[in-house]
Amino acid sequence: MADSAVIVGAGVIGLATAYRLARDGLAVTVVDAASGGTAGTSVNNAGWIVPIMSAPVPAPGMAGAALRWMARKDSPLYVRPSLRPAHVRFMASLLRHCNHRDFHHGVEALTALNARTVPLFDAYDKDGVRFEYHRTGQLMAFHTREAMRAYQAETAPLERIGHTAVPLSGDELRDLEPALGPHVRAGLRCAQERHVDPVRLLKGLEERCAQLGVHFVRNARVDDIHFRGPAATSARAGRDEISGDVFVLAAGAHTGPLSRLAGFPLPIQPGKGYGFDVTDGPVTLRHSVYLGEAKVAVTPLSDRLRFAGTMEFGSSGRAVDPHRLRGIVRSAHAFLPDFPASTQPRGWTGLRPMTPDGLPVVGPLPGKDNVLVASGHCMLGVTLAPMTAELIAALIAGGRRSSDAAATARPFAPCRFARHRRAPAGA
Ligand SMILES: Cc1cc2nc3c(=O)[nH]c(=O)nc-3n(C[C@H](O)[C@H](O)[C@H](O)COP(=O)(O)OP(=O)(O)OC[C@H]3O[C@@H](n4cnc5c(N)ncnc54)[C@H](O)[C@@H]3O)c2cc1C
Repeated sequence: MADSAVIVGAGVIGLATAYRLARDGLAVTVVDAASGGTAGTSVNNAGWIVPIMSAPVPAPGMAGAALRWMARKDSPLYVRPSLRPAHVRFMASLLRHCNHRDFHHGVEALTALNARTVPLFDAYDKDGVRFEYHRTGQLMAFHTREAMRAYQAETAPLERIGHTAVPLSGDELRDLEPALGPHVRAGLRCAQERHVDPVRLLKGLEERCAQLGVHFVRNARVDDIHFRGPAATSARAGRDEISGDVFVLAAGAHTGPLSRLAGFPLPIQPGKGYGFDVTDGPVTLRHSVYLGEAKVAVTPLSDRLRFAGTMEFGSSGRAVDPHRLRGIVRSAHAFLPDFPASTQPRGWTGLRPMTPDGLPVVGPLPGKDNVLVASGHCMLGVTLAPMTAELIAALIAGGRRSSDAAATARPFAPCRFARHRRAPAGA
């Protein structure tokens, strides 16, 4: 039985896990390379809690779309040409997963994982995690009925866990959100979905963790993990040496290099996304709105409207490419005509931790007694944070709780990447 845990990474996954383990009574230390949680992917996202979007990124037809969009730097999906071996291997593996069988398997696995997502967020609220939490539901807006129907078909399995997508006409959508323009002809209403202000969620989790006695080590990049036999004994971050009974690797898009330090490199690569915030703009919304064909998320928060979207493979830096930002602005104008096409926002970026099969990596590293991974959540890290934390806590607790969790976590086990063991991850 473990008494103490070291969590590497203070993003939403690391903090949700720290909170859960601290509630189980463990002495928890969170180590993070950054000085504070104000600029990472866990704050630079759309903030949607969306089990209804339980579809893995590698999907049938994605390869064709990627090829078509390769020529356009402002497209929703862009693969930056790169011959970096890790990138080439990752893209080849991702393309192999773009088939009906793997997609169906992914939808089933993510649906099961999301079954308790909303109750777990409701429980945060009740347990004193202070954050901005909206229960108004989500609308998906499409320019064509065909696009709406294709999306609707993907949402069908989610009915099993109580998440429904009800078709609406363009006029019915405009009754709910008058800002949607006349070219919006069809949509879906997903009343069970939620959204949060990701900045406030991260802050709320950090504050609650501190109340529960979690110790934070900031400005500390873990650069080595020490082992005695198969058991990790400490993580080194510069001059800091942090010991614990169990170690959880939750470093987001950087988990590849970190897992290599632990002797089992995982194929996790960044999928760069872009966004911007608008205060006092001409558009107001009540619901979070998905601009279907453009794959852009619009999130109404108490003090700003947030736009987020695009997926870019092959870049690891945080630099903002103005073409990709302009793509989001153009899409926003096409769906919300009062949003000026001339807007030149100050953008931000986030690096999604992507896996080649589109599924998270949750569970123990093979051959390592006490190192677990909680990463690779792709487009759904905010949504899946509380459930990931539940699984990690149960796996650490052992006994009956652990064997139930192991069954739920099986599709996400790191050992599915055993064949990548000699491949250099990350870099
Ligand atoms: C544009 C965009 C929109 C999105 N919208 C949504 C959405 O609406 N809903 C949703 O569910 N998800 C969304 N996502 C995905 C979600 O944001 C991510 O899946 C999630 O934030 C990943 O969280 P994380 O904790 O794994 O990683 P991160 O937030 O990246 O945190 C990892 C932390 O690890 C630290 N770290 C890295 N290496 C080391 C090291 N060696 N030592 C110490 N610390 C280290 C980093 O400093 C960082 O703080 C979106 C993502 C983007 C980019």
